[in-house]
Amino acid sequence: MIFGATGDLAKRKLFPSIYRLFERGKLAERFAVIGVARRSLSNDEFQHSVKESVLSALGKDKNIDEFISHFYYHSHDVTNSSSYLSLKTMANDLDKHYRLDGNRIFYLAMAPEFFGTIALHLKSDGLTDVSGFKRLVIEKPFGHNLESAKELNKQITTAFSEDEVYRIDHYLGKEMVRNIEVIRFANAIFEPLWNNRYISNIQITSSETLGVEERGRYYETSGALRDMVQNHMMQMVSLLAMEPPIRLTTDEVRSEKVRVFRAIRSVEGDQVQDYFVRGQYDEGTINGKKVMRYRDEQMVDKESNTETFVAGKLMIDNFRWAGVPFYIRTGKRMLTKSTKIVVQFKDIPMNLYYQTEKMLNPNLLVIHIQPEEGITLHLNAKKAGGHFDAQEVKLSYANTGINGMNTPEGYEKLLYDCMCGDATNFTHWDEVALSWSMVDKISAVWEKTKEESFPNYISGTKGPKAADELLEKDGFFWWPVADLDVENCQ
Ligand code: NAD
Repeated sequence: MIFGATGDLAKRKLFPSIYRLFERGKLAERFAVIGVARRSLSNDEFQHSVKESVLSALGKDKNIDEFISHFYYHSHDVTNSSSYLSLKTMANDLDKHYRLDGNRIFYLAMAPEFFGTIALHLKSDGLTDVSGFKRLVIEKPFGHNLESAKELNKQITTAFSEDEVYRIDHYLGKEMVRNIEVIRFANAIFEPLWNNRYISNIQITSSETLGVEERGRYYETSGALRDMVQNHMMQMVSLLAMEPPIRLTTDEVRSEKVRVFRAIRSVEGDQVQDYFVRGQYDEGTINGKKVMRYRDEQMVDKESNTETFVAGKLMIDNFRWAGVPFYIRTGKRMLTKSTKIVVQFKDIPMNLYYQTEKMLNPNLLVIHIQPEEGITLHLNAKKAGGHFDAQEVKLSYANTGINGMNTPEGYEKLLYDCMCGDATNFTHWDEVALSWSMVDKISAVWEKTKEESFPNYISGTKGPKAADELLEKDGFFWWPVADLDVENCQ
């Protein structure tokens, strides 16, 4: 059951992902999807909209009529028990018709204020009384701060146990985010070096060229810290920093990630300004087009104090990482659309190979998350024909180039994992709670003090100057993400 089936997420991501699973033979013939939303629609109208969304997302529709015949629609009021009772009757009938063994997945693709209400009704109106499995998939944001997240979790866990809750972080569906573990734990040349003896710092950048678009109302209450750092950025940090799990099971991987969250240095009060920088975009030019400042966007306060950019330094106080900064940065209306991780190794003890007037470049391992997918290893090697001059060489692997196809959409993988009962790539409550408690301390300071310098970066740039200074004071600099693209690495 997809709650919010007429919404943007369902149309752009969920229906196309279910279709791809169907097309690849990953869905059994015995499945049914009930679209649940407020609007009144017939099954035919709903099936037609599913068909259109598949066509517009994927540009193909092989066997589409068979596919959409599995879709049903229920017009619903989320606060009204009688709606749930008729939904239950529909689900029970489909269960019999398709012989579904009482297995049910509830996907909440709706505004977060409804999550708790729906979970409570699912239980009280009997939709969770099934003979098979029941699972709840829940979209971000999971709460607005630790307190609201706790309240939401309390409501959800009255109807579902923790291992039945699949909290989506769509970054965990991305091919190269999933690849972090493999790169680390399947290569003898990385894992022995993956610590504070050999790594000087790690940089994670997730930048967008888009502005806030039509999401001004939501974004004003969220900002980049809640929208990106609390979930996606923290998840990438935990995968990069965790200890090797003893097995690749959900519980083992999650418990190693939780240990990272627990080891992240708590920063509060006056310390926040030493570790975190906030920014807000001013007008500027992106791809030759003039764009407005954040404060002029729809539904945004003219004096808004909301950050559209965050840069931060996270210190992980454990044996492996003591002294190694993890720098994170994310923002809207930046120079490029790019998510990359740069692992910078320490300089070798003595440099025998001075390049002309230059020190040797440090070794870098770059993990390209999006839009490109791949890895690049930056090494030094002898310049052909030269005497003993060293130059930088880059060994690249591009996922798309090699396979000749785009890797599956994140949502497709996450939906499939959920159907198989694999919650490894979903966030556990402990991860959510620990990252909210970190973020709350920062937002407490930022909400109390108005940032007089806002807007403090021009659209189409790398963000505010203070983000560069954050690294400069530690003797580092942000590696320019555009120059690290696979296509620029020959
Ligand atoms: P949307 O506003 O486009 O869709 C909302 C859906 O909820 C519609 O189907 C609407 O009919 C239904 N709805 C609203 N009020 C209702 C009510 N009282 N009773 C029954 N149905 C009701 O929202 P969206 O963009 O699809 O986002 C859904 C969720 O997914 C949100 O939590 C959002 O944060 C999250 N999300 C969305 C995206 C995205 O790309 N759109 C990405 C990541 C996360």
